[in-house]
Amino acid sequence: MSSKIILLPGDGIGPEITAPTLELLEALGTGFDYEEHAFGGAAIDAHGTALTDATLAACKAADAVLLAAVGGPKWDTTDPSKPRPEQGLLGLRKGLGLYANLRPVRPLEALYDASPLKREVIDGTDLLVVRELTGGIYFGEKTRSADSASDLCTYTRAEIERIARVAFRAARRKVTSVDKANVIETSRLWREVVRELHAAEFSHVELEHVLVDNAAMQLVSNPADFDVIVTENMFGDILSDEAATLTGSIGMLPSASLGDPESPGLFEPVHGSAPDIAGMGVANPLAMFLSAALMLRHGLGMEAEAAAIESAVDRALADGLRTRDLGGSAGTHEATQAVLSNL
Ligand code: NAD
Repeated sequence: MSSKIILLPGDGIGPEITAPTLELLEALGTGFDYEEHAFGGAAIDAHGTALTDATLAACKAADAVLLAAVGGPKWDTTDPSKPRPEQGLLGLRKGLGLYANLRPVRPLEALYDASPLKREVIDGTDLLVVRELTGGIYFGEKTRSADSASDLCTYTRAEIERIARVAFRAARRKVTSVDKANVIETSRLWREVVRELHAAEFSHVELEHVLVDNAAMQLVSNPADFDVIVTENMFGDILSDEAATLTGSIGMLPSASLGDPESPGLFEPVHGSAPDIAGMGVANPLAMFLSAALMLRHGLGMEAEAAAIESAVDRALADGLRTRDLGGSAGTHEATQAVLSNL
């Protein structure tokens, strides 16, 4: 039986980068069974909520979920009673139990000159950010009165241990655990649990603890020194966007969100819906292509097909493909053709 994939094109450039991704998957002869659902702002317009119960149920029953991006000025609001597109993302992560967000950052030599950092600084960088995705301040209790507001940050021992385990398993040489243990209590628990797990099960992997402010600095001054970075939800959100700079464009970065082995993974680009360029046909589809590759690898166990997409992207770039965000003039269609012709 063919694998069931739920497609969530979302908003802004989302649909524009989803369609060519299907072309690519079809060209590989995958023959997946696709089911598309409105999500984010599109679902708010259609159903009054960013994630309907029916969409969540369909995702739970699928083999994998491929998401493009959500959000846009149309749905921007500071009124806490109004639905927001991002609630769909949080609901999906929570609903599918996706506690681990994996973001590989491997700048390609062909793009070194598109990076704002010097070639000698990024040379040799090949790192993975493992971000905890279902705990911390994004999910804690929130309060709001006319002149004050609060967000609660909570972590349990079990939540820290399972994400640290993902990081240690993914490491080739070193895990850098990032926290703010000099100030924040959840960070002190984080450090303690990571240290204990390391001693008990992963002492063959090097472990270092780095404060988040220092990590932010090291990431742009000495990125090649990192192997796996593991950190809590909000720090991971910020650091992985910072790491995006190394690749030359946020339009290049894929991500995988995984839970327990029996639940479907969620695969999506790191970037948002780019409302400033939506509808212009200039969106870079490569992060979405590479997200489909992560889906094949981590979601469906199709390593050969995953590698085929990655190497087609590498070769298209080596041949000179540059979308506007990479300093070139290729549009979405040309970028798609360039990758297809290298597949
Ligand atoms: P963004 O990532 O959408 O855009 C940031 C900048 O990068 C923009 O200039 C945009 O044009 C450019 N960019 C992003 N992706 C690109 C691509 N594939 N090709 C070429 N250029 C690209 O971030 P933002 O502007 O802060 O947010 C826009 C909307 O997206 C907001 O509503 C935000 O909430 C939402 N958002 C959604 C997600 C998600 O769906 N996972 C993530 C981040 C932001």
